Amino acid sequence: MAVNKLADLQLHNKRVLIRADLNVPLDGTKITNDLRIRASLPTIEFALERGAGVFLVSHLGRPKLGSNNDHLSLEPVAERLRTLLNRPVELIRDWQSGLDIDAGEIKLLENIRFHSGETENDRDLSRSLASLCDIYVNDAFGTAHRAHASTHGVANYVTDACAGLLLESEIDALERALANPKRPLVAVLGGSKISGKLEVLHNLKRVADTLLVGGGMANTFLLAAGKNVGKSLVESELIDDAKVIRRSAQLPLPVDVMTSETIDLRSHAFLRLADEIPSHEAIVDIGPETARRYAKTIADAGTVIWNGPMGIFEYPQFAEGTRAVADAIANTVAFTLAGGGDTVAAIEQFDISERIDYISTGGGAFLEFIEGKPLPGVEALKSDA
Ligand code: ADP
Ligand code: MG
Repeated sequence: MAVNKLADLQLHNKRVLIRADLNVPLDGTKITNDLRIRASLPTIEFALERGAGVFLVSHLGRPKLGSNNDHLSLEPVAERLRTLLNRPVELIRDWQSGLDIDAGEIKLLENIRFHSGETENDRDLSRSLASLCDIYVNDAFGTAHRAHASTHGVANYVTDACAGLLLESEIDALERALANPKRPLVAVLGGSKISGKLEVLHNLKRVADTLLVGGGMANTFLLAAGKNVGKSLVESELIDDAKVIRRSAQLPLPVDVMTSETIDLRSHAFLRLADEIPSHEAIVDIGPETARRYAKTIADAGTVIWNGPMGIFEYPQFAEGTRAVADAIANTVAFTLAGGGDTVAAIEQFDISERIDYISTGGGAFLEFIEGKPLPGVEALKSDA
């Protein structure tokens, strides 16, 4: 069942409520990165140009109930929107008893998580949101894995609910990579959140032709294969899972790794064979021969999905494995898709954003999608939902 699309709806003189992801990083009241705001503009402009009046809804941070949350006001976001859209954007605190909007106008509702009903998917808050609009548009992929009032509940009380342009392109890219991929499909998994990502591997092993592992993920597989991994980050209770996955998947183990005794800017990285890791050292990166093999597999792929750095790339002496894999992903002819907070940071650090086909704006939502879980925010936009 496909989601409804913004382009299929008549927007002229309609009141449109857009749930965007304007949850930007702030230093005081200063926005340190406005990528999410800029990513939300196409949908906002699309609606305004077609003669809709637009209410914008977003959360910002995690307000604490009963505390002063003034520092989480969306006012800096309103100000940035005024500049980027070159038109007035009013920030509205009190809207629950109703609010008017004219065609071509845009009003931003104050941080929706100031209402406790948001995360509880509260019926009254969902209804109040729905009563503001004729059409509900969800464009917030980053929170699509949450069933909240503004991402899920509201859709129950409107006649028309659809995906915004950003959400639509996220879903298209993920479906292109997972539902009907050009083969071979290679999934590259690394990072440190091993237990959280094991479900991802369970799902990917069914659809991917090859799984390439690095980071803490690789350490757990090496341990499961009976190697000594010294002081490496591992989750030993996941060894059985790792064995099960490896039995039914094409998952080549790293043949060499970089290790270190300490983890700081001055630490020295040692090249070790995966069979010869000293007990007092920790794996901090994949080794050059492993990186070369991974790069070859990536070069021959039809589709590549990447989540998780291959090593502790924040330190230059442990970053080479991640850089080699990133370069291979940038250079392959395959359709490439990447996501995850630290993965995107690595992509920016290596300056290859332009050479990856699709970079997902959602960390948790991206992972849940590739786990094969339905996303509540997306399900709510399907016609029979
Ligand atoms: P993402 O945010 O892209 O989903 P994660 O949050 O799972 O990725 O993991 C990113 C972190 O994993 C990085 O901060 C990196 O330093 C760390 N990491 C990578 N390899 C290792 C390793 N071998 N040991 C410890 N930490 C690692
Ligand atoms: Mg992370």
